[in-house]
Amino acid sequence: MALVPLEETRDAILAAVPRLPVVSTPIADSVGLVLAEDIVATEPVPPFANTAMDGYALRAADTVGASADAPSRLRVVDDLPAGRAPEIAVGPGEAIRIMTGAPMPDGADAIVMVERTARDGDDGVLVQAEAKAGDHIRRPGGDLEAGQTVFTAGTVVGPAHVGVLASVGAHEVAVYRRARVGVLSTGDELVERGPLAPGQIRDSNRPMLCALAAAAGVEVVDLGLARDDEALIVGVLEDAFARCDAVLTSGGVSMGEYDYVKAALDRFGALEWRQVAIKPAKPLAFGVVQGVPVFGLPGNPVSSLVSYELFARPALRSMMGYADGRRPEVVARAAHAFTRRPDGKVHLDRVRVTWEGDGYVAASTGRQESNVLSATAAANGLALVPDGDGLAAGDPLRVMLLT
Ligand code: AMP
Ligand code: MG
Repeated sequence: MALVPLEETRDAILAAVPRLPVVSTPIADSVGLVLAEDIVATEPVPPFANTAMDGYALRAADTVGASADAPSRLRVVDDLPAGRAPEIAVGPGEAIRIMTGAPMPDGADAIVMVERTARDGDDGVLVQAEAKAGDHIRRPGGDLEAGQTVFTAGTVVGPAHVGVLASVGAHEVAVYRRARVGVLSTGDELVERGPLAPGQIRDSNRPMLCALAAAAGVEVVDLGLARDDEALIVGVLEDAFARCDAVLTSGGVSMGEYDYVKAALDRFGALEWRQVAIKPAKPLAFGVVQGVPVFGLPGNPVSSLVSYELFARPALRSMMGYADGRRPEVVARAAHAFTRRPDGKVHLDRVRVTWEGDGYVAASTGRQESNVLSATAAANGLALVPDGDGLAAGDPLRVMLLT
């Protein structure tokens, strides 16, 4: 079977996955989701003119020539905390003590910060600096005007977006629904907990894939651990297709005798078997069954993670409305030689990327075999070492950032 380039494989998957429906969601639950509508401010932010400082609201004309040596004395006629509407206006020769966020009282056209004043008796303040009209006043709509488009459809909601949405009174927003993603491990050798019998290993892919999926902002459905039994796997998948938007399986998709995931998925049809021009994670089973994308990830834990990162994660994000669900990439300098031979594949080496003052540097995190997950845990990037004879220390190297 011919090897298919990484980009071509990813593009084909992105073109095949459906987009999830739009739902109205409370803003607090919308982080990591994508807006399906433009958000227009229905009210200005801030809603009224207010002070940016603790100090005194006054008339700038009353402070002409004021200095520390020759302060202007004004009569303090009120005390205005944030949250209270002003009841009286500031007349000539008067000031109102005012706290940050309190509305500007009528008559006043400037704020002098408290640090430039001194109290003078019960009802006086000495203003020790000249004020200009408008000083320290936040005008209504200074952040957002009513009628202004705050965010456009396609925006990924982050914590600051939640704050802005709250500031304009948008309590619910139309977003693409969070994907429900089923995760299944397969293999007779796998155990979840307890002592290991001869030949057994612990299931590490399912906890890892569940964690990866959760970190990508999807809702995880743990489908458990299935024996290498075709009928059993078919049953678990049928149930999964009924209640999940996408399914990740691991194991059972290579060329082995007991690779029943491949057999089970073949029964549902519409599945493609690809040999991708990458190492690790060459075999990939992908298809859309009953409208549900299925990713048959390889069993070796490192391959499983790499395949998830390259294909499943961007696809899940695309389903959730992301215009580009890929990880960001940087070009780093190779900290050392990356040795390899030509084999028609891009090698995805697990690396640690650090900023070294004038650029990024990428160093291998250790052994690169596809079963050595510990070196992957130490990595914050996947280096794309192109086909060929490898790279020398100092050569530029593309790295997909995993954080
Ligand atoms: P398979 O693709 O099922 O032939 O599995 C390839 C290798 O990955 C074998 O060494 C399996 O024991 C191992 N493997 C498969 N699934 C898991 C899993 N969930 N956790 C850890 N190792 C696994
Ligand atoms: Mg297996």
